[in-house]
Amino acid sequence: MKPVAHPTKSSVPAFAGGTLVCACTSNPVKVKVKGQIAHNHACGCTKCWKPEGALFSVVAVAGTGDVTVTENGDKLKVVDPSALIQRHACTGCGVHMHGPVERDHAFKGLSFIHPERFVEDGWSPPGFTAFVSSIIESGVDPNRMEGVRAQLRSIGLEPYDCLNPGLMDFIATWAAKKSGALPA
Ligand SMILES: [Zn+2]
Ligand SMILES: [Zn+2]
Repeated sequence: MKPVAHPTKSSVPAFAGGTLVCACTSNPVKVKVKGQIAHNHACGCTKCWKPEGALFSVVAVAGTGDVTVTENGDKLKVVDPSALIQRHACTGCGVHMHGPVERDHAFKGLSFIHPERFVEDGWSPPGFTAFVSSIIESGVDPNRMEGVRAQLRSIGLEPYDCLNPGLMDFIATWAAKKSGALPA
């Protein structure tokens, strides 16, 4: 994959990439991803696609240059053109197939994808949980949060209410270099 600055390393370097397929039973959208994914995590935000009934999405990144729509791309539509992540959703089934970041940002050049849509196995598993408090915005009783966080910890998906420290430091470093607070 593209040499982006990764604060953490993939745990399964052998994965050569694969094909993401949407949930449509006919003419599914297919997206090819080259190489291993990075920063796979569970996400509680209200914007990421998740299967019906799930509290968290599973979302990772790949270099945008390694992500290619190969079939039925005409079914894709950007959910919110003003958002940082240009989430391309299938208009047939609603699954978000790829979400490039094109704006000037630390994540520019990366595309957000949902590895559970890979037809292949071997992608690196989620390593933490982001935006946990946001599940309240989806209607989860705030009194359940302690239990939800305990459960996430028990399965090794440390809960954070933004991104994990590695990614937050990465974003802040990018901003500091841009402002001149750190040498570029
Ligand atoms: Zn679809
Ligand atoms: Zn999210």
